[in-house]
Amino acid sequence: MVIVMAAGATSADVQAVVTQVESVGGEAFVSRGISRVIVGLVGDVDLFAGLNLTAMRGVARVTRISAKYKLVSREHHPERSVVSVGGVPIGPSTVTLIAGPCAVETPDQTLAAARMAQAAGATLLRGGAFKPRSSPYAFQGLGQRGLEILADVREETGLPVVTEVVGAHDVDLVAEHADMLQIGTRNMQNFPLLQAVGAAGKPVLLKRGMNATIEEWLMAAEYIAQRGTLDIVLCERGIRTFETATRNTLDIAAVPVVQQLSHLPVIVDPSHSGGRRDLVLPLSRAAIGVGADGVIVDVHPHPEIALCDGPQALVATDLLALSRSVEKLTRVMGRQLSAPRHVPHEYQAA
Ligand code: PEP
Ligand code: MN
Repeated sequence: MVIVMAAGATSADVQAVVTQVESVGGEAFVSRGISRVIVGLVGDVDLFAGLNLTAMRGVARVTRISAKYKLVSREHHPERSVVSVGGVPIGPSTVTLIAGPCAVETPDQTLAAARMAQAAGATLLRGGAFKPRSSPYAFQGLGQRGLEILADVREETGLPVVTEVVGAHDVDLVAEHADMLQIGTRNMQNFPLLQAVGAAGKPVLLKRGMNATIEEWLMAAEYIAQRGTLDIVLCERGIRTFETATRNTLDIAAVPVVQQLSHLPVIVDPSHSGGRRDLVLPLSRAAIGVGADGVIVDVHPHPEIALCDGPQALVATDLLALSRSVEKLTRVMGRQLSAPRHVPHEYQAA
């Protein structure tokens, strides 16, 4: 931390600050400029948490130097992390394609979407059983039955499952069925939920809140990490801006910014950001090109009758085109597509 003294601060004011800092076991280094004095503090920021330095006489500003988040920060963990989801890696040397329906509707629809995903080289299956819908009249998901369908489809295809949990009371149930727990944009600051998923022992996919700054997003990840899991993947899914031409504005710069600040992998959701099928391919290209560690896309065998987010769902041919593009770009970026975990031979991508 750095304390900037006001222009009129006296030597006694400076000394009072030094005395306070030393009283809690910190060290204070005083630098005198022509018109200002700056005091540099050395010691864990927690030491200084109980001091009200801003309120002291002669203090103009107190500035933190180290990040507020510790466990997810790159400061003390310079190597970028790899998170393994049911044996599938998400991290800096791979690009992971996650695909599946927005919502689990029926066993046939889920299996058909999973087969589409697998044929295109996706290595993880997404699909919501608990859906956080903006309208209480919209399809809310199949709940536990949806989880059972996902588990059956994993059995059939070998694809590990990523699915959302919307309430702290459902965490154990979802964790019993899923390989990765998704926290959606609407719940990014549901702190009891973050703490519950952090204690569940499964990897977590943490979507960025649609109104959240990058710092708030990383603080949300810190809540999860603090409860015991560092297997967290961050997902940029678009934020609310004044622009109405797309569902949300994909903050593509967030990917390299977060990768500099945090060791956690970062993926992009081009489906929920653009909200339109025709944008999924270009936004996926942008994501891989900017260095994202993967993309998560909505697919559906019959988008015209989808119960949720049909307009952004890809059909099989779209998804194959996307995967070809992703594969080429992955090579350009010096990475490899993440390999499937053990997959029954008859389901392997051509
Ligand atoms: C989803 O992935 O199904 C979803 C609801 O996404 P988001 O939380 O980003 O809106
Ligand atoms: Mn959706």
